[in-house]
Parts: sequence; structure tokens; C-alpha cells
Amino acid sequence: MEARVACLLIGVLLIQGSQQQSAIKKKPPIKKDVKGNSAIEDIQKQIKNIVAELNVLKQHQALQAVCLRGEKTRGKCLLTDSEKKNYYTASEDCIAKGGTLSTPRSSGENLHLAAYVNESVGPSAHVWLGFNDMQAEGTWVDLTGSAARFHNWDASPLSPQPDGGTSENCAVLSATPAGTWLDENCGVKRASVCEFKIV
Ligand code: CA
Ligand code: CA
Repeated sequence: MEARVACLLIGVLLIQGSQQQSAIKKKPPIKKDVKGNSAIEDIQKQIKNIVAELNVLKQHQALQAVCLRGEKTRGKCLLTDSEKKNYYTASEDCIAKGGTLSTPRSSGENLHLAAYVNESVGPSAHVWLGFNDMQAEGTWVDLTGSAARFHNWDASPLSPQPDGGTSENCAVLSATPAGTWLDENCGVKRASVCEFKIV
């Protein structure tokens, strides 16, 4: 009797075992999924584009911050840096911020700049302009190397500017109502105004 029960139990266990075996599904073989690869590449491209767009937005945001803190004029934002620096450092610092030393191109822009400097730095301030005659004495060029088409040199009879010859190769704007220009030694420390193009 006991032997029969044991045989039955073994039989039941064997049947259950074979049923469980057949219940285990085989995993599908891993195929090289070409479609999947191109989808990943698409996503990578999209991420790259999003990062590029984000960087442009960051630049716009930084420019907006400049415009909010500084002064907005036609196509430009102006921002004063009242820390006195020589021409080279002032110019490099503006470039590092994504701008250039202010370079007024017309009488209107020049008057606007002079009023802004008067208000933000003070009435006796001289600020660096983005013009110099380092390459050729007497030939004033902007930071792109193009000849300055507009200028506003101080024409007072006592000391008409520019008057410094080869020892004064950088232009400054005086914060007088007329915003007249003087040539000065590039190593002198002056405040500056950076300008940023509004896109
Ligand atoms: Ca000069
Ligand atoms: Ca001078």
C-alpha cells in the first residue's frame, strides 16, 4: 500500500514538473534592430538641437539682463563698467561678455551714449570708445579694422583733438552734453561702456 502511494506521488510530481517546463517561455532571440538604432540616432540629433536652442535662449536671456540693467538704444544695449581699466583690458572684458567697447556711428548715437555715461558714471567721466589709431597714426579704425566714418573730436581752440600723436592711440568720449572725443594713452585707466547688438 505504502509503495503504491509513493509511486503515485512520484508520478504526480513528474507530471507537474513536465507541465512547468512547457510553461516556461523561451525568450525571443536578440535581433540586430536597425530601426531601433536609427531611432536612437534621431533622438540623439533631437537632443543636440535642443541643447543648441537652449544655448541661444541663454544668450538671449543674458542680453535681456544687460538691456534691463543698462540702456537700450536703436539695435544696441549699452552697459557701463565703472571699474577703471586700460583700453586693452576694457576691450577684452567687453568681448568676454559678448559685446564690444561702445562705438557710436552717428551724432544721435553719440549724444545718447554721452547722456548715458553722464548719468551712469558721472559728468566728468571719460570712457573708452571702440576706436584706435594703433596701426597707422592718424587713421582711426573701429574694432573690426574698418575706418571710423563718424567722429566727434573735441575742436576747442586750446587743445583740438586728436593731439597726442603716437603716444595717444585710443579714443575716449567725455560725458559732456556734446559727448566730444579725445585721444588718450591706451594704458591710462578709464571706465567703459560695452555695447551688445540686439538680434
Ligand atoms: Ca595716435
Ligand atoms: Ca589727446
